[in-house]
Amino acid sequence: MTLNKEKIKEELEKERDALKTQMGDMAKLNPETGEWEAQPEAQDFPEADLNDQADRFEEFESRSSMIKDLGIRWKNILSSLKNINKASFAKCSVCGKDIEAARMKANPAAKTCKKHLEN
Ligand SMILES: [Zn+2]
Repeated sequence: MTLNKEKIKEELEKERDALKTQMGDMAKLNPETGEWEAQPEAQDFPEADLNDQADRFEEFESRSSMIKDLGIRWKNILSSLKNINKASFAKCSVCGKDIEAARMKANPAAKTCKKHLEN
């Protein structure tokens, strides 16, 4: 089965835009580094007590780690979009074989075949 690159490109662009919307609520894209940076939640009550501050800090921490994960996905998608017309696209980065079409469909930014998924 040959890969439909147009279709994959469409999927990647859709996912990129969805990610951008999702992260846009919690983070800002730094145009210089290309990195997403988590933003603290706007402070509603400046007089917040220490408990509130601790909560806010915890929330910022979890937000940061989520942004970090989403940011990795973001970069994978961007690099897939960049490489989509290269011969290496949709080839496993470990064994060089074609990545299964079903896997590309589930994750258009996939870099490895199913066999090398965890390695
Ligand atoms: Zn492989």
